[in-house]
Amino acid sequence: MKPADRPPVSSGSRRGFLAASVMGGFSAGVRADASDMAAATMDELARVADQPVLDVSFVDRPVRIASIELLRVGRIFLVRTRTTDGAEAVTVPHPARMTVAYPIFLNLVAPWFIGRDARDLERLLWEVYRHSSNYKLQGLTLWICVAAVEMSLLELMGQVAQRPLADFFGGTLRREIPVYVASGNRGNAPESEVDHLRRLAAESGVRALKYRVGGRMSRSADSLPGRSEALIPAVREAFGDRFTLYVDANSSYDAREGIRIGRMLEAYDYGFFEEPCEFDDLWSTKQVADRLCMPVAGGEQEFSMHRWRWMIANRGVDIVQPDLHYGGGMIRAAKVARMAATAGLQVVPHMSGGGLGYLEVVQFASWTSNIGDFMEFKGNTALPVTCLTSSLKCEQGVVHCPSGPGFGVTLDESWVRQARPIDQDR
Ligand SMILES: [Mg+2]
Repeated sequence: MKPADRPPVSSGSRRGFLAASVMGGFSAGVRADASDMAAATMDELARVADQPVLDVSFVDRPVRIASIELLRVGRIFLVRTRTTDGAEAVTVPHPARMTVAYPIFLNLVAPWFIGRDARDLERLLWEVYRHSSNYKLQGLTLWICVAAVEMSLLELMGQVAQRPLADFFGGTLRREIPVYVASGNRGNAPESEVDHLRRLAAESGVRALKYRVGGRMSRSADSLPGRSEALIPAVREAFGDRFTLYVDANSSYDAREGIRIGRMLEAYDYGFFEEPCEFDDLWSTKQVADRLCMPVAGGEQEFSMHRWRWMIANRGVDIVQPDLHYGGGMIRAAKVARMAATAGLQVVPHMSGGGLGYLEVVQFASWTSNIGDFMEFKGNTALPVTCLTSSLKCEQGVVHCPSGPGFGVTLDESWVRQARPIDQDR
């Protein structure tokens, strides 16, 4: 659709648009839903974040943690958790980041959980953060280590209770999870990127795509001069009006350039504009979100619950994107989602690639009430897993969420046996 065919944007700012919406009616093609009317105060969100999200009422005996080991097989890390009465779980922490973060895992995080009851997990997340001076290391490297333990203990409890992960988060709401695929390219010519997107869509059967604009932390420089301006109309032209299109700027722009690019995206009816400004520049991000009528998404590097609360209360973004590893795990991401729900916002978790990231996002989507329309799917990895209840593959744009205990998959035992523990003294 050409810009001239688009209905005029009803105001120069999102706030103006919202005010106009209250006065009566929405313009077709401009995001318009009841959630626009919702808002939440910082105090309300604090109360929501304090509410427990983890339901362990059906785990009828202590799940006492006897050991938490970090193993490695090839380049892949595994976490093996055992209880005092012999139950065991093996899970996959963040593959790439654990390469540098593992001393924190071994020295500061995992030992602190030994002897505790995994049923207290939600409270323990705060305690391990507070313990000693762990909070002074606040950041991705700390929180991916906490997430590694958290997901392992969730799996452990799932195995002990023989209940799927969703039961710990209020129950399954859906099993068919629509996904989008994303291109990881930058710097290639617009025509070759359009061809690449066509291939991605043909292979997966998706009805939604994401690609990259800008130059990644580039202070507004494009990866190729004019690439983003060429792609924005060209991709819409190539896929037509019925496709949902997203872009990710990966922190490329200042507010002014973010607004300029965002106006183009609006004109071609893009579904969201991800991380327009540097990820920790909440103020510029909010400026872009305030000026655009289309949703701005962000937060994949965010690990602070206070900043999440501020962003949600002040509508710094329209769609929250907690990463399930970077932010400290499923429980903290669920709290972000609940705060977002209180403010009428959707959540589209960021997917850490590698490992079982594709499965974790699908699981999270299965129980989250305010989940977005499509989850990211970066493809299956080569890890040897079997699953009795799902192919785990993207079929016609949908991934079926497994229903077995815990995460619902089993890592190949002979492969796990090849893994060697990483020594705490390394
Ligand atoms: Mg992103």
